[in-house]
Amino acid sequence: MVKRKNKIDKYSVAKAHWNLFIRKVPSDEAAADRIFKALEEKGRIVCCCGSINLNRNAGSRFFICQLCKMRTFFTVGTTFEGVSRLQAWLGAIHFAENNIAISALGFSKIAKVAFATARNCLLRAAMIVAGTIDESAPVLIGGELLQIIFRRSRETPPRLHPQAEQDEVEKELAEQFNVNVIFDNDTSANQEKSSCDTSSDVLDNLSPLQKQVLGLMGDTPISIDDLCDMTSQPAGILGSAAVMLALEGLIQDMPGGRYIKTVQKLQNKNLRDVTCPTAEIINAAIAFIREHFQGVSRKCLQLYLAIFWYCADRKTWKEGALFSAFLDQPPLGRSALINYVSPHLLKMPIS
Ligand SMILES: [Zn+2]
Repeated sequence: MVKRKNKIDKYSVAKAHWNLFIRKVPSDEAAADRIFKALEEKGRIVCCCGSINLNRNAGSRFFICQLCKMRTFFTVGTTFEGVSRLQAWLGAIHFAENNIAISALGFSKIAKVAFATARNCLLRAAMIVAGTIDESAPVLIGGELLQIIFRRSRETPPRLHPQAEQDEVEKELAEQFNVNVIFDNDTSANQEKSSCDTSSDVLDNLSPLQKQVLGLMGDTPISIDDLCDMTSQPAGILGSAAVMLALEGLIQDMPGGRYIKTVQKLQNKNLRDVTCPTAEIINAAIAFIREHFQGVSRKCLQLYLAIFWYCADRKTWKEGALFSAFLDQPPLGRSALINYVSPHLLKMPIS
């Protein structure tokens, strides 16, 4: 009930902001005027002949040079190049600048644009933000964020869970960094060792049955029914053993009531010279993405982290900063979003 109420509240806040916004920017033409004015202030409304003696009708997307009569589309060279729904795009920026995180579906309803347009607005804004992240920003592998990766993308291996995309990334990273900590190996000696490395106290306190269940877990998801077959124990006690192990973080639940052993993630020590965000920041990002976007794909993960950064770091992203970035950044191109793939090492600008 409480959750539902929050959702309604969030939606009404977004709606109120939208109503405020469309009073200032009532149409795509008004949006064009606003962009023109901002570019003018930046000194970028100049004909290619160098003249600033220009004519433009209100609402128009081009100006005509009085000197050489050339017609120039002024959004060319900005992120707004070729965008038809300028109002929606400015609305997305307005939302971001007012710290309103909203899903593409919510935005499409409020702005009355197609879902694809809404998604495009929101994720392109995120791409702009992600593009400004400094090289020195703390990095994370992404395994920490497995619980929010449950959307498929073009990068998801066929017939596998979306999280498999993360596994692929980690395998490649392991090769790249020449470390060998990704997956627990099949041999029990190795399993024992890697588990002990992280949680020997926890392991000592497990019951014999819990230890047995843990020993049976691996990379392949196993259901309670499977465990019944393997141990000849009743489903009830196996289920509670599994829940306990999951609570300890030793195994994790997968769709369909199945479990796998928790993968030992790459630790900071394996990637020298990089800083990692604190657990607090990671948890805040997870909670934020869950609340506003539910699940995401590994492919787009960096974009959602960028949105989180944007909302969490209002000092860097003070009012007008995103709009300015849209004007200053080159156009992304139609396929930019489709082809976007989050980097192996995700950047988290807040530490
Ligand atoms: Zn000219």
